[in-house]
Amino acid sequence: MSRIIEVEDTITVGALADKLSLPVTRLISELFKNGVMTTVNERIDFDTAQIIVQEIGLDVELQKKIQEIALPKRDKRQSNNGTATSRPPVVAVMGHVDHGKTSLLDAIRDAHVAKGEAGGITQHISAYQITHNKRPITFLDTPGHEAFAAIREHGAHLTDIAIIVIAADDGIKPQTLEAIRFARKAGTKIIVAINKIDKEGADSNRIKQQLAEQNLLVEEWGGDTVAVELSAKTKKGIDNLLDMILLVADVEDYRAVVDAPAVGLIIESHVEQGRGPVANALIEEGTLKPGDFVVAGATYAKIRTLDTTNGKPLALAGPSTPVVIAGFKAPPEFGDEFSVVYDEKTARSLAEQGAIQKHADTGHGDISSGELIRIINRNNKVQELNIIVRADVQGSLTSVVDSLKALDTDEVAIRIVSSGVGNISDNDIRTAASSDAIIYGFNVVAPSNVKRVASRDKVEIRLYSVIYELIDDVKNGLSKLLAPEVIETDLGRLIVRAIFKTTKTEIICGGEVTKGKMAVPALARVMRDSQKLAEVEITNLKRGPQDVKEVLEGEMCGLSFKINERVELQEGDHIEVFTRTTVARSL
Ligand code: GDP
Repeated sequence: MSRIIEVEDTITVGALADKLSLPVTRLISELFKNGVMTTVNERIDFDTAQIIVQEIGLDVELQKKIQEIALPKRDKRQSNNGTATSRPPVVAVMGHVDHGKTSLLDAIRDAHVAKGEAGGITQHISAYQITHNKRPITFLDTPGHEAFAAIREHGAHLTDIAIIVIAADDGIKPQTLEAIRFARKAGTKIIVAINKIDKEGADSNRIKQQLAEQNLLVEEWGGDTVAVELSAKTKKGIDNLLDMILLVADVEDYRAVVDAPAVGLIIESHVEQGRGPVANALIEEGTLKPGDFVVAGATYAKIRTLDTTNGKPLALAGPSTPVVIAGFKAPPEFGDEFSVVYDEKTARSLAEQGAIQKHADTGHGDISSGELIRIINRNNKVQELNIIVRADVQGSLTSVVDSLKALDTDEVAIRIVSSGVGNISDNDIRTAASSDAIIYGFNVVAPSNVKRVASRDKVEIRLYSVIYELIDDVKNGLSKLLAPEVIETDLGRLIVRAIFKTTKTEIICGGEVTKGKMAVPALARVMRDSQKLAEVEITNLKRGPQDVKEVLEGEMCGLSFKINERVELQEGDHIEVFTRTTVARSL
């Protein structure tokens, strides 16, 4: 009987390999064989997992784990791996511009981070942890929903609580609404901070009224929206806000496994003089310590130093802790998930896989089963045009890439091997040469040294500054991959009256043209009633003893044709003569 393994809606490649007792590199290479480039941290969905298990031929049956609806998403994943214990909440601050997000984050940090600890890295802090009533709270120190959305886009369910800051003298504004939408979509708990209550013209009741219009009815009016009135300037109400955060955390009961190798998200990185690449990261589960081998995207580290975001050394760091990691070979990227691996060799090879993945740029985040099926189908029959796209700015890159993707059909498709902003580089040429890709540049140039390498490596670079001209060119390229259209034109029909000679390769017969004409050279179908016996090639045509090119309707003729398979021709069979031409198609 097959082994039954429970898998949730999505699972990281690493965790799936673990469950299947397969080396993660084997699973990655199986996915790779099917055209899916993944890293150990990348999530694939249940259906993809199932397809790949079948492809490998394992005697394993995957079953979807029933979700416990009441638990927050992160806990569900963690409940699998061990005993989950309470962890600090992770809080983000959002709201309209000038409503006081930065002031609030500063006020919380200034009041609660012990003096003297500051220093170390101050410039690049992007998360910090404070202690309130002896309990830690983690704040993402990047106000605004752009950062929040970016983190979400990377598939991380990082933020537990969103604080929506609304200035009491201004009220709900478009960005406030957007922030509310974001938080709701992410399933994040909302706490409203009614800020600037010290200001003349502050009207908390008006804000509560506006909140009610957004289906956020505050507790004092009988709803369940937590709203705190405060002033980031005078610090009034801030302790109350922190109390509320802890209260929500108690109700929601955020948990994570501590006793496991750490996984988490890179939220910022930079190169520091004397220290090399340094990354800010947030631990999602497990414990991180100096000396651990960590892989993140296309790079890895043996952790040289592990610090708090205030520069205080840590011997250990657990879930929801923002940390600063030094020891990376190269700076990891924002949104890269990191995880602790067993040894340096594994870290290095997984980072190499990560680099391939980044090159492949198969889009962000999770790979859906739909995409996998499409890729597998593609491997079978769809012709692909490999291209690399470079554009001057992210906006034009997105529109070029989106327009190109729209050209895909069931027969031909574009595979964007890599894409990016900026001029064409040596690296693009290398990638193009190894993947047989054409490089398209939009409003960018190819420096002359790069052009030289391209011509040496026979890589084509095509530069455009008008988007539809670029798209047309790609369309032409795709059209060439389309199988040509085959057109068959019937010429005429003959009824077989006598068979003169049959060999393994040739038949000579005689008959009467009943429709149209006979011609040579031409192709013919040998028909018995309505059944096709063979397709043959007419090699000779005779009217009487004379070789001719054509014989017309009503005339008798002799006919020789080449056969590839044995045909038992009989009197009364028909020969239908036709020509076949192929015509190039275009999209
Ligand atoms: P952000 O754009 O949401 O990050 O807003 P800021 O924190 O930069 O604040 C915008 C302006 O509002 C600044 O001039 C702050 O000094 C001011 N401000 C922020 N909070 C308060 C407050 O509670 N009371 C008063 N009077 N002014 C505030």
